Amino acid sequence: MRPLLRTIGLLLLGISTGVFSAAQTTSASPSAGPNEDDLALKSFAAMHPIDAHVHVFKTDPAFQALLEHLNLKLLNILVMDDTLPYRKELRPQIEDARTLVRSSRGHVALCTTFDPYKFDSPSFDADVIKQIDQNFAEGAVAVKIWKNIGMEIKDRNGKFIMADDPKFDPIYKDIAARGKTLLSHQAEPDVAWGPPDPSDPAWSYYQENPQWYVGNTPGFPSKQTILDARDHVLANNPKLGMVGVHLGSMERDLDNIARHLDKYPNFAIDTAARMEYLMLLPREKARAFLIKYQDRVIYGTDLDFLATASVSDVLKDWQSTYVRDWRFLATSDTLSVGGKQTHGLHLSRPVLRKIFRGNAVHWIPGL
Ligand SMILES: [Zn+2]
Repeated sequence: MRPLLRTIGLLLLGISTGVFSAAQTTSASPSAGPNEDDLALKSFAAMHPIDAHVHVFKTDPAFQALLEHLNLKLLNILVMDDTLPYRKELRPQIEDARTLVRSSRGHVALCTTFDPYKFDSPSFDADVIKQIDQNFAEGAVAVKIWKNIGMEIKDRNGKFIMADDPKFDPIYKDIAARGKTLLSHQAEPDVAWGPPDPSDPAWSYYQENPQWYVGNTPGFPSKQTILDARDHVLANNPKLGMVGVHLGSMERDLDNIARHLDKYPNFAIDTAARMEYLMLLPREKARAFLIKYQDRVIYGTDLDFLATASVSDVLKDWQSTYVRDWRFLATSDTLSVGGKQTHGLHLSRPVLRKIFRGNAVHWIPGL
C-alpha cells in the first residue's frame, strides 16, 4: 500500500486506532485493546485475504478504502428473496453488482444467481442458462442457490422443490462445463426447526426473520430431507465444484461435515456467519478439524452493506468481525462468545493462508 493512500483512507474511514498510521510505529498505545485489534488487522491484511461470502448493495469510497487497506478481496453474492423488497428483482441486483465490481479496482468479484421463483416456466432452464452464461461472460465466477429451494418454493402440486429436482440439472451441468462453482445454501441451522433456543448463535436471526423459523410448521420438510437433496446434487455432478456455505448447514456436527468432505471430493465449505459455532466447540476438536481439512474450508463472513446502512457502522462492524475471526483462528487469545470464554486456535501460517485465501482461489476459479 502506498503511504498517501493509507492517509487518505484513514481520513475517509475515521480510523482512530491508527491501524496503518506511521505514528503507530513510533509510539506505543497505552490502551492494549485497540493496539491488539490493529495488530490483528495488520496480520489479516498480510494474508491478502479473500472474504468469499458477502452481500454488498452499494459503492462507497470509504468502503473501497477499507478493502484497499486490508488487501481484501470480496466475493459478492446475489440472492433472490421474495421476502425482502431489495432482493425481489434480479436485474437491478445484477446491475448494481456489476457497477460495484467495475469500480472496485479488482477487490470485488461477483457470484450471480438466478430466479428460482420462475421454476414453473416452460423455458426455465434455457432462460437461466442464457442468463448465467451472460453473467459468466461479464466476469461472474460462481452461482448461488439459496434456502428458498427446499424451504419456500413449491411446485404446481404444492410440493416443496428440492435442490436435486431434475429441472435444475441442466443448470448444474452448465455451471460445471463452464468451470464455475456452485455456492449452495440449503436448509438452515438446526435451531430453525426448533425448539426455540436463545443460547443458539442463530436464534436472534429468527427473531428478526420469523419467516424462516419452521419449528411449528406441520408437514414441513425435515432438515435431513433438504440436505439429502443437496447431497444428491454432489453425487450426480462429480465435475461440479460446490461450496456448501454456512459450514454446509451442518454447523453443530463437525463429524458429519468430515464425512461429507471425505465422501464428496467436489465439496468444500465456507465459514460464513457460523464462526461462533466453531468458537463454541471444544477447542481441540475445532482445531484438529481445520488442520485435517485445511484444503476444504473457505473463509467467509456473510457481512453485508445495505443501501440504507450507515457507512461508519458498517466499517466498524466489518473490521471488528475480521479482528475477531483473525484472533480466533490465528492466535491463542481469550475470546468471549455467547457469554462463554474460549481460546484462539493458533493455526499455523500455511493453514491460515489456505483458509483466508488459497482455498477460495482453488475452489472458485477466476476469483
Ligand atoms: Zn449470505
